[in-house]
Amino acid sequence: MPSSRTLVLLGIGHTNAEVVRRWIKRPIADTRLVCISKFPFATYSGMLPGTLSRQFEPTEMQIDLRALTKRAGAELILDEVTELDPATRTLHFAKRDALPFDVLSVGVGSMPAGWRDHRSPALVPIKPMQTFPSRLEERLGDGAGPKRCVIVGGGVAGVEVALCLDAGLAKRGLAERGQPQSYSITILTSGPQIADGMTNRSRRKLREILRARGIEVRTDYRVKEVDERSVGNGQDEPIAADVIIWATGAAAPPVLGRLGLATDERGFLALNPRLQSTDAEPIFAVGDCGTILQHPAPKAGVFAVRQAPVLWHNLRAALGAETAYQTYRPQSGFMKILNTGHGKALLEYKGHSAHARWCWWLKCWIDKRFVAKYQFRE
Ligand SMILES: Cc1cc2nc3c(=O)[nH]c(=O)nc-3n(C[C@H](O)[C@H](O)[C@H](O)COP(=O)(O)OP(=O)(O)OC[C@H]3O[C@@H](n4cnc5c(N)ncnc54)[C@H](O)[C@@H]3O)c2cc1C
Repeated sequence: MPSSRTLVLLGIGHTNAEVVRRWIKRPIADTRLVCISKFPFATYSGMLPGTLSRQFEPTEMQIDLRALTKRAGAELILDEVTELDPATRTLHFAKRDALPFDVLSVGVGSMPAGWRDHRSPALVPIKPMQTFPSRLEERLGDGAGPKRCVIVGGGVAGVEVALCLDAGLAKRGLAERGQPQSYSITILTSGPQIADGMTNRSRRKLREILRARGIEVRTDYRVKEVDERSVGNGQDEPIAADVIIWATGAAAPPVLGRLGLATDERGFLALNPRLQSTDAEPIFAVGDCGTILQHPAPKAGVFAVRQAPVLWHNLRAALGAETAYQTYRPQSGFMKILNTGHGKALLEYKGHSAHARWCWWLKCWIDKRFVAKYQFRE
C-alpha cells in the first residue's frame, strides 16, 4: 500500500544524511522518504584538506547517495529546486513534476561569500565541494610550470587549505618528475588576523608554521579585483595568481532566497530552537543554512552533526511518531583540529593547543569513522 505521508530532505549534508542512516533501522510508519541533491554524492569537508595534501583520495571523503538512499528504501532526486510554496507544501523543479510534502528538512549548507562578483578562469571556489578537486586539478594542469596560488580567505578553512595544498604540491613535483615543483602560496584575508575564532596561542602557532613553510599571509587585504592572472585590492599593485582558491566565510546559498521563508539578516533561514522555520512549522532547516535566532552559532560542521539527533526526533514528532518536540542549543566550545599537511595537526581544546603527530592520528580516526557510517555499496 502506498505511504500516505511524504518526508522530503532537501540537501544531504551532515544532518540530513544522519536522518537517512537512522531511517534504515527505524523508518517512520506510513511515510515515504524523498531525498533531493544536486550531486549523486555528498562530501565530508573535514577530509577535503587531506585530499589536497594527498593523504586521502577524493573518493574517501565522499558519501555515495545512491547507495545510502537505496539502503534506506528512499527515493533520490538529483535536481535543483526552483521554488517552494509553503501554503500548499509543494516543491517545484524546472523540468519535473512538483513534489508535495508533509514535512521538509532543508540542509543545503553555505557558499563562500563574495566569489560571484568575479569572473576569471583562475577562480576556484571551494564549493561545491563535490567538484572542487577536479576544478582545482584542471587549473593546476600538468604541474610542469610554476604555480602561483592565492587563497582568498584567512579563516580556519583557508589556512588549512593553504597548508595542505603546500604539502600536496611538494609531493606532486617529487611524484611526477622526481624534483620539487616550483610554486608559491599566499593567503589574503580582509580581517586583521588569520584563523578567527581560535585562541591567540593557536594563531601564533599557525603563523609560525605558515612562516616556516614559506606561505605568505597578507591581512587587511580585501580582494576587489580578479582577472585571469592576478588579484587586487583596488589600491596596491595586483598580486600575480595562476590559481585563486576562494575560501571566504559562509554566505547564504541562492536557493534559500527561492524558498520564500523568513531569513536572518545574512539570508540564512530563520529558525526556532526546535530547528523549525519561524514561518512554517512543518519545515525544518539544519546545518549552515539555518540560524537559530535565539542561539546563533558559527557555521561549522560540528553544529550540523550535533543537530542530527534533535532533527530526527522532531521529524518523527512532526509525523506523529513522537509525542513532544525537543529543542537544540549549540554547545559553547568545541574541539578544533586543523590538518597541517605533513602528518601533523594543530588541535585546540578548552584553551589548550598542540601541534603534533598524535593530533593528526586523532583527526584521521574521527574523520574516517564519521564518514564510514554513511558509506554503503550499492
Ligand atoms: C575546507 C573546509 C574545511 C572544513 N573543516 C571543518 C572541520 O574540520 N570541522 C567543522 O566543524 N567544520 C568544518 N568546515 C565547515 C563545514 O564544512 C560546514 O560547516 C558543514 O559542511 C555544514 O554542514 P551542512 O550539512 O550544513 O552543509 P554541507 O555539508 O555543505 O551539505 C550541504 C549539501 O547540500 C547540497 N546542496 C547545496 N545546494 C543544494 C540544492 N540547491 N539542492 C540540493 N542539494 C543542495 C550540497 O551539495 C551538499 O551536499 C569546513 C569547511 C571548509 C570549506
